[in-house]
Amino acid sequence: MSKNHILIIGAGLVGAATAYALVQRGFAVTLVDRGATPAVGASHANGGMLTPSMADPWNAPGVWRDLLRWVGREDAPMLLRLSALPGLTAWGAAFLANSRQTAYTRATRHNVELGLFSLRVMAEWRERMRPQYAASRCGTLKIYRSEAAWYAGIAKAASFAVMGVRYDPWDCEKLVQNQPSLAPIASRLAGAVHFPDDESGDAAQFTRALVDGAADRGAQLLFGRAVQRLWVEGGKVRGAILDDGQRLDADAAVLAAGAETPSLARSAGVKVAVAPVKGYSLTYAADGIALPTLPLVDDALHAALTPLGSRLRVAGTAEFSGFDARIVPARIANLKHLLRQILPEQADALDARDPVAWAGFRPMHARGVPCIGQTDCPGLYLNCGHGHLGWTEAAGSGEALARLMAGENSDFDLRPFAPD
Ligand SMILES: Cc1cc2nc3c(=O)[nH]c(=O)nc-3n(C[C@H](O)[C@H](O)[C@H](O)COP(=O)(O)OP(=O)(O)OC[C@H]3O[C@@H](n4cnc5c(N)ncnc54)[C@H](O)[C@@H]3O)c2cc1C
Repeated sequence: MSKNHILIIGAGLVGAATAYALVQRGFAVTLVDRGATPAVGASHANGGMLTPSMADPWNAPGVWRDLLRWVGREDAPMLLRLSALPGLTAWGAAFLANSRQTAYTRATRHNVELGLFSLRVMAEWRERMRPQYAASRCGTLKIYRSEAAWYAGIAKAASFAVMGVRYDPWDCEKLVQNQPSLAPIASRLAGAVHFPDDESGDAAQFTRALVDGAADRGAQLLFGRAVQRLWVEGGKVRGAILDDGQRLDADAAVLAAGAETPSLARSAGVKVAVAPVKGYSLTYAADGIALPTLPLVDDALHAALTPLGSRLRVAGTAEFSGFDARIVPARIANLKHLLRQILPEQADALDARDPVAWAGFRPMHARGVPCIGQTDCPGLYLNCGHGHLGWTEAAGSGEALARLMAGENSDFDLRPFAPD
């Protein structure tokens, strides 16, 4: 398409990355979000990890057994609230249908490719923008509590290595040498796997840097303005209509509204199989407390601990509960319990510092990979549905969509991500 005016709806990681990539190419961009600032949605306080090493979708073969087993259990890593079921029927059926081995293997490969591409794009953008976002490029570490789980973890890492994800198995001696703060639980661990190319950082700070970068190159920012629906005329998207009735006209629109994307897409007759999967995090002020120096995933507890400068973020759990944004105390207690099982000697000191609790909605596409590209409705593009991998895949998704819209040749194949 010619380099006209593009309206981007949603200033989370994905919308901000798309805006940044488009302004680099000379597009006129308007970025609109109902929040007062960027990153008020899922990108606000996520786990902070950029992990091609964890690119497998959550609808793994047999996921339905786990979901049934965990119904109603507040300590479950994946909790299905029965009250959410009526709103999940079509999406749930597609989510389960995509848990077949072939679909799962294919989706894993596409996510790994997008994650690795995204890290390459991040490296270029870092050079250009020099953003401050508590970045670390020392990799991530998965720890295992039984030998069987550790061997299975190594086998899974080996299957990812074929796709370009490097890994290094660590026994407990090497683990404690590298991460002395884990010494108190070493006797309960079987080993770990280090993924040296993974990264981490504060997603909200990076989103703000992208938005500033886009604004510096002329993007128009509209915060605190909610889009009510897309404006379709003559079978083509002409822009959007805001809650107060104002029309924003554009030559094309990119929907990057996270978990809210399906309802906005529907206003142009486009169906998107994205549902909200709620997750929680706790952010602790941790200066002066001995912490792991790497982001750490406890495979058995389904918890992630990420050092972010002088803070520690504990994130995890998935809840299928529709758009219920309440912070359920039992889920927070669960996260605190998980922290205590990983850092028993630091947990009291951390708790005394009154962590900030947060919940957000992962925009999860039923097929396990995000939706990036042009829809059947002329003038409407999607960049959404990144699920648990939105930080890992945001830069690559923005860059790849911008290349597509600019009609550039790209070494990254977007076809597997095309809107259905
Ligand atoms: C607990 C938790 C931990 C996570 N950890 C990780 C991790 O470690 N690594 C990783 O890669 N990913 C992680 N994720 C996933 C990642 O955070 C998301 O995939 C990513 O933030 C999605 O970004 P987005 O821009 O698509 O959506 P969002 O960040 O939700 O942005 C959508 C934006 O659209 C705006 N919007 C919606 N509707 C409208 C409207 N009608 N009008 C105007 N604006 C609108 C919203 O205000 C919002 O700002 C985690 C998620 C959670 C919840």
